[in-house]
Amino acid sequence: MKIPGVMAGEVLRHVAKAPATVNYPFVKVQMPPDFRGKMVFLAEKCIGCKLCAKDCPSNALAINKVGDKRFEAVFDLDKCIYCGQCIDSCNKDAIVSSEDFELAALSRDSLKFTFHAPPAPPPSAAPPAAAAPQAAVPAAQGATPAAQGAAPAAGAVAPATPGSGSKPS
Ligand code: SF4
Ligand code: SF4
Repeated sequence: MKIPGVMAGEVLRHVAKAPATVNYPFVKVQMPPDFRGKMVFLAEKCIGCKLCAKDCPSNALAINKVGDKRFEAVFDLDKCIYCGQCIDSCNKDAIVSSEDFELAALSRDSLKFTFHAPPAPPPSAAPPAAAAPQAAVPAAQGATPAAQGAAPAAGAVAPATPGSGSKPS
């Protein structure tokens, strides 16, 4: 025999409670700190050891060398199972997981993410040692006016322009 009012009491109790769900996607919840979402590659920390790619059980990650100590990472998120093994394998903390879980896509190609290497350093930083020996033959060839102005000014040519450099009284 049904007891009248039991169901009504249950309904009324839940009406007073806050809902257990959220109005997604209009309301988004805060992911826990150890949530494993989309992987993020920090290229400036990578040393190119490729341990992460070797340990990936899904073959979802590749590390490519693109320059001197510069590496990019390519993630196939349609293969990734978000196990976090690549994060654990990296001794340089160059891979972290994000809170991004909204990764639905209409094509597999759009799930391939490339994290590019940082830009190469400017070439002007490399040649200082190579430029020094050329300063020994400056005036004979008369090649670079800028170089001539720099090297002789330290010694021989300095007395030739004293008036121009000093303040006229
Ligand atoms: S394990 Fe870390 S340092 Fe080594 S290649 Fe992968 S991301 Fe780079
Ligand atoms: S999370 Fe797992 S499956 Fe995804 S790239 Fe890293 S090691 Fe591979």
